[in-house]
Amino acid sequence: MQKPYVFITRKLPEETLVSLKEIADVGMWPSEEEAVPRKVLLKEAQKAEGLLTMLSDNIDKELFDNAPSLKVVANLAVGYDNIDIEAAKMKNVRVCNTPDILTDSTADLTFSLILATARRIVESASYVKEGKWNSWGPLLLAGADVHHKTIGIVGMGRIGEAVARRAKGFDMNILYHNRSRKPEAEKKLGAVYRDFYDLLKESDFVVCLAPLTTETKGMFNREAFQAMKQSAIFINAGRGASVDEEALVDALKNSVIAGAGLDVYVIEPIAADHPLLTMKQVVALPHIGSASVETRKKMSELACRNIAKVIDGKKAETPVV
Ligand code: NAP
Repeated sequence: MQKPYVFITRKLPEETLVSLKEIADVGMWPSEEEAVPRKVLLKEAQKAEGLLTMLSDNIDKELFDNAPSLKVVANLAVGYDNIDIEAAKMKNVRVCNTPDILTDSTADLTFSLILATARRIVESASYVKEGKWNSWGPLLLAGADVHHKTIGIVGMGRIGEAVARRAKGFDMNILYHNRSRKPEAEKKLGAVYRDFYDLLKESDFVVCLAPLTTETKGMFNREAFQAMKQSAIFINAGRGASVDEEALVDALKNSVIAGAGLDVYVIEPIAADHPLLTMKQVVALPHIGSASVETRKKMSELACRNIAKVIDGKKAETPVV
């Protein structure tokens, strides 16, 4: 009997695909760095029962309309803003993500961004490597403290809470903003709920870890940056489009805020000549929140298990719909 066909849109470690290959014929885009061209994706989707997709793939209505056998899309990410969920529902296609297993890795990276930006770590490392270090100086590359400061987490979910746990170890005051309060986190972490604007006003580090939705799109706009302290550092490890990047550039240029640590951008990859990349008070990373080898393997294995389960008529482990 012919096995169902599954297409993977980016090269993943072979050892993570073993169980999927037992039940399916698996096709895979062979590049690790280059995204699958749209034409190829649409062609593969036409014959696939399962797709293992990346956050950089646009899984839209056009794709669902032209994928008659498709049963499941498993995204290698916890965010799924790249997938048209309504179109998936219309076609009765299950969508899955990879929550929890990436929480700690993403929180580690988010906290590194806080430290790197505040303590000017990237700038300092380049300074040494470029041979600019001629003598020790009392204020040479002096940055801002992180310990005992106030962190304001917008999007206090799984990753937000894991960042708050790290912040507790740095004796920080923890503020958070969600649409709903989290009494458990308040009790466990001493986190205090604030309205969005109160959080912006009071925080030394404003950290965005909210999902990208119609509500959060552009929520860090000109008014938001104006509300922050002049010494504030803005960290975005959620999604780029939650930020009005033009407003962020102006806020940094005009010293409305002091710095930014960014892992995500409106358009990815960010253009090499983007004004954000010319500013020394910006630490910019290439969307590597969950990118540890261990976690990426776990994400791949979970996505494969989700596909296998749905194809077998069972419930996915981590369904979105
Ligand atoms: P989660 O557990 O669902 O947490 C999201 C939190 O955001 C929830 O507590 C939610 O609370 C809050 N939220 C939703 N809408 C909001 C709004 N309009 N205003 C304020 N808060 C809002 O998700 P997670 O696993 O922590 O992941 C969070 C996001 O991080 C993902 O969606 C993804 O975009 C991003 N991420 C990025 C990377 C990276 O590589 N940089 C890696 C992993 C994840 P309420 O529902 O109460 O509002």
